[in-house]
Amino acid sequence: MNLKDKVAIVTGSGRGIGREIALKLASGGCNITLVDVDENTLSQTAKDIEVKGVKVLTVKADVTSVVDTERIADETVKSFGKIDILVNNAGITRDNLIMRMKEDEWDRVLAINLKGTFNCTKAVSRYMMKERSGRIVNIASVIGIGGNVGQANYAASKAGVIAFTKSAAKEFAPRNINVNAIAPGFIQTAMTEVLKDDIKAKMMERIPLQRLGTVQDVANAVMFFVSEESNYITGQTLVVDGGMIM
Ligand code: NAP
Repeated sequence: MNLKDKVAIVTGSGRGIGREIALKLASGGCNITLVDVDENTLSQTAKDIEVKGVKVLTVKADVTSVVDTERIADETVKSFGKIDILVNNAGITRDNLIMRMKEDEWDRVLAINLKGTFNCTKAVSRYMMKERSGRIVNIASVIGIGGNVGQANYAASKAGVIAFTKSAAKEFAPRNINVNAIAPGFIQTAMTEVLKDDIKAKMMERIPLQRLGTVQDVANAVMFFVSEESNYITGQTLVVDGGMIM
């Protein structure tokens, strides 16, 4: 896909799904702003992207901070002149049963997954509205559609991301900014690595395609939403889960 001279911001791109999304966009010729709280993983991803011949900016930032997210947008425009694509990928889990869930576990997950998505979207929207063009892709989760035991905070945050996606799509449509979400299922990353073997086995039983998803599976869906082939699609959530929740 030709993304030459396009500019993308990918949050949580030091590792996991975000890193792969950034690599894939860069393979298409896109210049990238990498955003993460971890400086070490950020600089490693930056090195791996630079060899693809595109420009890379790294911004150590916390998506829960309004000041940080405004800095991400401002520094990107200062370096590259515009923002074409935002991928809201930064996200965490803090699993617990509702009865045992601590206030901090609820607040932190909502702050990063949902408020972080709002903060980044708001910060880039100023620039995209001016350009009358843009693509925003939010990484939700199938848990935000079906819920899950021990993940009430995560489910609520991701359901919020899906509803936020629809509202943003309606608000920004007159300015030619498409906003869509991706709901991955069980993807092989550090986030799922920590799950107990019996839980992993149970999840595998529910996947008709009989394999875990890969970071590439999610990145491929992002590529569709930033391509011209999806010009007439906005406000949608694409489930990437091997058929788990059809
Ligand atoms: P991951 O491997 O834990 O990567 C998440 C990245 O986000 C990490 O680099 C993390 O930094 C960064 N991050 C965390 N808090 C941040 C903050 N406040 N500001 C900026 N960056 C922050 O997770 P993943 O599996 O790739 O997940 C990526 C996205 O996909 C998340 O939104 C997740 O909910 C969603 N998702 C994942 C799965 C799955 O099965 N893996 C399924 C459905 C949806 P640190 O390294 O410092 O923590």
